[in-house]
Amino acid sequence: MDQAMIDRLAAAPVAAGKLLIGGEWVKGAGETPVLSPIDGKQLTTIAAASADDVARACASGRAAFEDGRWSRMAPAARKAVLHRLADLIEKHATELAVLGVRDNGTEISMALKAEPGSAAGTFRYYAEAIDKVYGEVAPTASNVLGLIHREPVGVVGAIVPWNFPLMIGAWKIAPALATGNSVVLKPAETASLSLLRLAALALEAGVPPGVFNVVTGPGRVTGEALALSNDVDVLVFTGSGATGRRLLQYSAQSNLKRCYLELGGKSPNVVFADAPDLSAAAKAAATAIFRNAGQVCVAGSRLLVEALVHDAFVDELATATRKMAVGNPLKLDTQVGAVNSLTQLEGNLGFVADATREGGEIVTGGSRALEETGGYYMDPTIVTGVRPEHRLYREEVFGPVLAVTPFADEAEALRLANASDFGLAAGVWTANLSRAHRMVRGIRSGVVHVNTYGGADVTVPLSGVKQSGNGADKSLHALEKYTDLKTAWIQL
Ligand code: ADP
Repeated sequence: MDQAMIDRLAAAPVAAGKLLIGGEWVKGAGETPVLSPIDGKQLTTIAAASADDVARACASGRAAFEDGRWSRMAPAARKAVLHRLADLIEKHATELAVLGVRDNGTEISMALKAEPGSAAGTFRYYAEAIDKVYGEVAPTASNVLGLIHREPVGVVGAIVPWNFPLMIGAWKIAPALATGNSVVLKPAETASLSLLRLAALALEAGVPPGVFNVVTGPGRVTGEALALSNDVDVLVFTGSGATGRRLLQYSAQSNLKRCYLELGGKSPNVVFADAPDLSAAAKAAATAIFRNAGQVCVAGSRLLVEALVHDAFVDELATATRKMAVGNPLKLDTQVGAVNSLTQLEGNLGFVADATREGGEIVTGGSRALEETGGYYMDPTIVTGVRPEHRLYREEVFGPVLAVTPFADEAEALRLANASDFGLAAGVWTANLSRAHRMVRGIRSGVVHVNTYGGADVTVPLSGVKQSGNGADKSLHALEKYTDLKTAWIQL
């Protein structure tokens, strides 16, 4: 990938966003400005869909579902369409990645891999699943036949966040479409651009009109209307716990739609003195929290280090952290891009202020960076001496702030790891195989990385426990969210 091509794409003006309803691009009731996190200037506008706009999008999804233009299309034909979409994502990969970075701020080196790259792979994975997942024949008595079918649920509402719009969007859209549903997507207001482009590519690939609709706009208006719609059968969401709680209330107030929530975490990354390579662990611990400026749901945001090696480990970690290049996310050598919004940046700084007030010590970082650019940047921040009662230990920052806590032995490590309301991800660094397995069994989270952190691909589920959510994104398990079971019980 060359910088000149990225610069050229990044210089292009961005047209005002529209809504995609019933295969047509239409204006919304209002508009929302989109600010660039790179320089704080207005980049473009997106449509702000009203409750009426959302109702139209849901009705078009319902009509498409009922007439079977997609839901009853031959599986091999649906598969071909989703493969064509994956081809188009690959063909437009750089354009999609650059567009996404312009409103969300992820460093381009990461966006290129994590955004179009993983979205294309996800569409291919579920395209292939379409004609390989079978129903079941129940082990009944010989005078009856029990056939268990899996049917699409109908209309899926998908509300997605701003940190990896294409990747997380694809985790929801691909299995929902693959199983024959219609989708109404609501991107985050600060990361809609790449998903609007994806929707255009979906039309080009042959997803029929009305099957995939996009409504942009503020969460409290557009998102709320989608979550309250009686035309939405299943709601899938990635975002904050506060919004997740509201979605459950909207479901209760409307049609009891099933809600699958992925709500972030406060993931422990546990380093034992017997780790196979402490230097590698220190570098990985920095990457685990600071890439995408910490705006990663599985970020290793609580570092637990065995007391024996704590000081040396923190020194090495701080050295690696200070070397990370913070800056313009559109530059290929940037390792820590922009914080998505000013609100987010101020929240991050508030966490640091509270941490020092509560007795934590800043080893490096702690401040806004590159303020003269007008953009939203923050120095990667390490805080030591963080205790379980501190706010920084308990709450998700969703920014480049790492909480470090020492532990004495394995029992304390496990206790500290589980001292959280969240349970999304974890890491364990040890050369002791038995200890690694004990920790994997003991830690309550959806994934436990061993001697690595992050990078789990589409073949394995991402599934939170405790207040990190429910239901799986990725893997064949995700198909369960988008299908209903139906039994045919036949007397022979
Ligand atoms: P974050 O705090 O990380 O921005 P949010 O949960 O606020 O996370 O946002 C995730 C997604 O949820 C975004 O698309 C946002 O617009 C949407 N959202 C926010 N509030 C609501 C709401 N009350 N109802 C429905 N969707 C919402």
